Amino acid sequence: MSQVVVLGATGSIGRQALDVIAHLGFTVDGLAANRPSPELAELAQRHPGAEVVVATGDDEVARDFASRIDNPVRFGREAVAEMASRPGRIVVNGIVGAAGLRATIAGLEAGNRVALANKESLVAGGPLVMDALAAGNGELIPVDSEHSALHQCLEGEDPSSVLRLILTASGGPFRGRARADLVSVTVEEALAHPTWKMGGRITIDSATLMNKGLEVIEAHHLFGFDLDRIDVVVHPQSIVHSAVHFVDGGIKAHLGHPDMRIPIQYALTYPERVSGLGEPFSFVGRTLEFEEVDRETFPAVDLAYEAARRGGTAPCVLNAADEMAVEAFLAGKLGFLGIVEIVEATLERAGWERELSSVEQVLAADAEARAIASELIASARSSS
Ligand code: MG
Repeated sequence: MSQVVVLGATGSIGRQALDVIAHLGFTVDGLAANRPSPELAELAQRHPGAEVVVATGDDEVARDFASRIDNPVRFGREAVAEMASRPGRIVVNGIVGAAGLRATIAGLEAGNRVALANKESLVAGGPLVMDALAAGNGELIPVDSEHSALHQCLEGEDPSSVLRLILTASGGPFRGRARADLVSVTVEEALAHPTWKMGGRITIDSATLMNKGLEVIEAHHLFGFDLDRIDVVVHPQSIVHSAVHFVDGGIKAHLGHPDMRIPIQYALTYPERVSGLGEPFSFVGRTLEFEEVDRETFPAVDLAYEAARRGGTAPCVLNAADEMAVEAFLAGKLGFLGIVEIVEATLERAGWERELSSVEQVLAADAEARAIASELIASARSSS
């Protein structure tokens, strides 16, 4: 029976992964979360055989949390990576942010299958992740719906027969609006995603389309295609999850309900398929639309391509600045258009190294970008 560790267990992906794991009859062997919380304690009680790891929390909070549950508990970021490196485990990495990179690498180096929902691993540390994959002989199966779709479309195909990858984007809640309309949009409006129910950061990233930019970088590393062979098209219904255009003119697309349990299950059971959770799908009565990305209203997409072209630490800086800017927006400290402006300004100001050689280098670039971004956010605030 497959043993699974779920990192980011209390988040949106973590919870859906636990549902899929229960459905498949797999065993939950480990649960990791960023903070001790009543939700984590409840998950621990539901999985009495699982070790629990909490990445952060001071001594007092840690002791208090450990006294509430019967599971073995460990603390610290190192313990998260250690959990990912236990041999023979499937690692579901649903950590949000660049903090997930170390666990992805640890899991792959140990030869494990990593079901990757932490897109920042590939965005910030793509070359390091792909090296770890090659070194450990593990498996990297994407959980992000677009990349799961591409993985399925590319299965059994020769990469040289591929003309281009086509990532679909829902367009978010502000599709069709002009840039001037977005000056004063509220947090609530930005959080109202039309098709997907997700965590806070990714929902805001979907509203700015930064999420799609990050996904372009993710696909570039994961599948090894040049950036000029990766396109984005807006598809408001989120039924076509992505497509591959082949040299003979044929196109393979992957379709289905926008339900993350489908790509999560695929990553857990690949190459097998078994009966899944969720509603049956019908084509009848559906209209599928496709349109160009409005690159003027949503400059995040081109900014991400630009960071990816620079390579090295630039995509890490892009991601870190975006994490800070989205947090500031959610806290009411930054306007919606300010998010991408902060990212662009941080990219201009941050130092940038062309080659990635270590996780420490990525984390240092991440920390520097965060410091610059928070300074820029503070001064944008005082001048507005
Ligand atoms: Mg996605």
